[in-house]
Amino acid sequence: MMKILKFGGTSMGSPKALTQIESIFRSRIEMGEQSILVCSAMSGVTNQLFEIGKMAEKRRLSHAMELFESVKNRHMEAAEALGVRPYFEAYATALLEDLKNLIKGIGLILELSERSKAYLMSFGERLSTRLLTAYLKKKGHPVEQFDSTFIKTAGKNFIKDEVDLPLTRQAIDAVLTTPLQNGISPVITGFFGTNQESVISLLGRGGSDYSGAILTVCLGAKTLEIWTDVDGFLTADPRLVKEANIIQQIGFQEAAELCFYGAKVLHPKTIRPVIEKGGEVYIRNTFNLSNKGTLITQYPTPSEVAVISISSKKVDMITLDLFGITLNKREVMADLFQLSKALEINVDMIAASEAQVSFCIENDQENRPHFLKKLSILCPYVIKKNRSVICIVSPADVQGQIGIAGKIFTTIAESGVSVEMYSQNASEIAQLIVVKSEVSDKVITKLHENLVIRPIE
Ligand code: ASP
Ligand code: MG
Repeated sequence: MMKILKFGGTSMGSPKALTQIESIFRSRIEMGEQSILVCSAMSGVTNQLFEIGKMAEKRRLSHAMELFESVKNRHMEAAEALGVRPYFEAYATALLEDLKNLIKGIGLILELSERSKAYLMSFGERLSTRLLTAYLKKKGHPVEQFDSTFIKTAGKNFIKDEVDLPLTRQAIDAVLTTPLQNGISPVITGFFGTNQESVISLLGRGGSDYSGAILTVCLGAKTLEIWTDVDGFLTADPRLVKEANIIQQIGFQEAAELCFYGAKVLHPKTIRPVIEKGGEVYIRNTFNLSNKGTLITQYPTPSEVAVISISSKKVDMITLDLFGITLNKREVMADLFQLSKALEINVDMIAASEAQVSFCIENDQENRPHFLKKLSILCPYVIKKNRSVICIVSPADVQGQIGIAGKIFTTIAESGVSVEMYSQNASEIAQLIVVKSEVSDKVITKLHENLVIRPIE
C-alpha cells in the first residue's frame, strides 16, 4: 500500500525531529507500506528567506548575508549532528552557492519581483529535503530527493498559485513511476511547483499540505498523513479544559470550521481534493508516536455526542447604526464587503436588522486600524472590544435534531453569562456565540462538560 506522508516545519526542524521521521519511515517499511515523503522547510526558514529578500532589496545586503549564513549553518549543524555532513555538502553546496548569488543579485539591482521572491523562498524546502534524504540514505533506506518541478501550476501568480491537476498527473507519472516501481521512496519538496514556463511558483504560505494533497490525488493513493507537532484535533483547548480529548474521527466540514476558529492544525481547503476523491487524511504528531491522531474523512462514524468540539477566538464586535445615514442597508452592506475585501479584513458572523448591522472582526488583523477609519466614514458605529466568539461544532449528522441550541443557551444562562450575539449556519454544524472575553473560559468549560462529554439523550 502507498501512503503520502507530509512533514511540517517543526517535524523537519531539528536533528531530533529527523530521527523521529526515520523511525516512522522505518516502521512503515517493516509493515510493507510504500511511503512518499513530502516535506516543509525547517521551521522558521521560509520566514527567514522572506526577510533576506526584504533586506537585500532595501540596501541591507550585509544583514541579508548574515541571515543567509545562519540559515546555512542551521542546516550544516543539523547535518553534522546526524553524521551526514559530507553527504549533505555534496547535495547542497551548489544550491547554497545559487542562493548566495541570488541574494547578491537582489542586493545589486535593489528589486525583488514576485517571481524572484518565489524562487528565493523555495530554497527552504530544497535544503530540508536534501538534508533528510542524506540522513535516510545513511540509515540504509532506498530514497531519492526530488524538487517538485512536476507539480504544474496554473500560472495565476507566483506567490499563491493553484495547481493544474491533469498536467501535474502526467508530469508525476513521467518522473515518479520508475523510481516507485523500483521500490524507491521519493522525498519531495512541498510548497512550490512550476508554471507553464517552468518557473518556480509557490502554493501559498503553509502550502506543503496542498503539495501533499496533490500528490495523494495524482498518485491515486487513498491516505495522506499530515505529521505535525500536535496530537490532532481536540475537543477543546487543553490549557482551558483539562478534560479535553483527542477527536478520533471528524468530517471535513467540521474540521474546516474548527481550523477557522482557533485550532490552526491545517489549511482545510488544501486537503479538499483528497476528501472529494473519497480519501482520508490523518493528523499525526511526529513527537508522540503512540497517539493515533485524528482522521478527517467525508463520512466519519456517527458520533454519540451533540457537540464534538469547542474553540474560540478574540474579536471586536461592531454595530453599524443605519438610521444615522442617508445610505440604505443594501448600499452599506455592499460598501462594507468592498472594504473588507480591499483591506483583507475577515468579517465574521453578520446579523442584520432594519436599523442595525452587527458583525465581528478578529482583533489582531494588520489592517484593522485602517479598516475602522474607513468604516467611520461609511457609517457611524459602536465597537465593543474584548469579546470572544465561541465556536461550537456539531457532527454533520445531528442536523435536524431538536434541543441542541436549547441546551447551549441553557448552559450559558446557568453560567450567569449574557449572550451578546449569535449565529448558526444552515448546515447546523457551527454555532457561534459572542460573549465578553473575561467570561469565555468559564463558558467553554461548562459547555464542554454539558455537551461534549455527555452523550446525546
Ligand atoms: N515552508 C512553507 C511555509 O512556511 C510551506 C509549508 O511549510 O507548508 O509557508
Ligand atoms: Mg504547515
